Amino acid sequence: MTNKRKPEWTPDNAGREFASRVREAASPASNITASSGAQPRKRYDTATLVKGVLAGDRTLLSKAITLIESNSEQHFEAGQELIRQLLPHSGKSIRIGITGVPGAGKSTFIENFGLWLIGQGHQVAVLAIDPSSSLSRGSILGDKTRMEQLSRQSGSFIRPSPSSGALGGVARKTRESLILCEAAGYDIILIETVGVGQSETTVRSMVDFFLLMQIPGAGDELQGIKKGIMELADLIVVNKADGDNIPAAELACRELNNALHYLRHATKGWQTKALTCSALHQTGLQEIWSSITRFVQQGKENGVFEQRRQAQVTQWFDCLLSEAVLNRFYSDPDIKEKLPALRTEVENGTLPVVLAVKQLLD
Ligand code: GDP
Repeated sequence: MTNKRKPEWTPDNAGREFASRVREAASPASNITASSGAQPRKRYDTATLVKGVLAGDRTLLSKAITLIESNSEQHFEAGQELIRQLLPHSGKSIRIGITGVPGAGKSTFIENFGLWLIGQGHQVAVLAIDPSSSLSRGSILGDKTRMEQLSRQSGSFIRPSPSSGALGGVARKTRESLILCEAAGYDIILIETVGVGQSETTVRSMVDFFLLMQIPGAGDELQGIKKGIMELADLIVVNKADGDNIPAAELACRELNNALHYLRHATKGWQTKALTCSALHQTGLQEIWSSITRFVQQGKENGVFEQRRQAQVTQWFDCLLSEAVLNRFYSDPDIKEKLPALRTEVENGTLPVVLAVKQLLD
């Protein structure tokens, strides 16, 4: 990974709290990077970033996202000021979550669906939440060469998952990136995640429409029921419906549609259905898009679309508030001093747990 480096605004002696890495652009815009020799680290003030994002400048959008992804307190205020100024320009996209097990065909789908959408006149941003990066420091989503054709389109913007941190932190950054992408004029935001662990619920909590990608023939088409993921989905797509796979895909699709009658729906008033597609051969894309546009239109007419967005913001607020309260509590010098001794007493059975908690809170 020689072509990845730390963002220019990280201090030279930065440690691991600076998780972000940026990939060198194929042809950096000459007005924003030094033209020769050792490149001095250039910082962009908020006004320049705001102007750049609003003008749809992809390089400055990238830099703005890198700023909000920083874990350093020093960048927190600048990042939040950026969000504050751009927030009024956000909200106008359709936010679509896409999940599925590794190998289901998500990147092939996003690449071809993204290209198709651009062909229809849309601007497409792709973000990702990769739970594997927070669990193992490895990455399921990030290690492949992904979406090369899509990334070359002027109407697209692709940002890999923030590379480390707890799922909550990664999700916060993705949510804020989404705001920046919308302010930059992207009207379709695709947020990809892997079908493992808790990240589906996290993505569901920040998108309007949630698509679950399945593959036929594994004999476990209905596996999503067990994990409760089918109940999060607004559409299930059975991918790889091509060649010899067609009968198996159609059978899986029928079984899913039967099962979906008995499940709770993810969105009030919307019957989740299963469709087949071939991401590779680009069939079924039009039907998927029709389903999404019908969903949005219906949701806007009956108010469900706006209600969900409002509920998501409230939920996000509550979530950040409890996180901040916890952080403040644990970073209090008094608590830091008393906590280890109380923990030992609890472990030794010399102090009741409830009493220990009360002593700390008091
Ligand atoms: P991801 O891990 O979910 O992102 O899956 P990928 O998009 O990387 O696809 C995994 C493999 O399935 C790759 O070898 C793809 O070429 C293949 N694949 C993806 N979509 C299709 C499809 O519609 N039909 C067929 N036959 N293969 C596909």
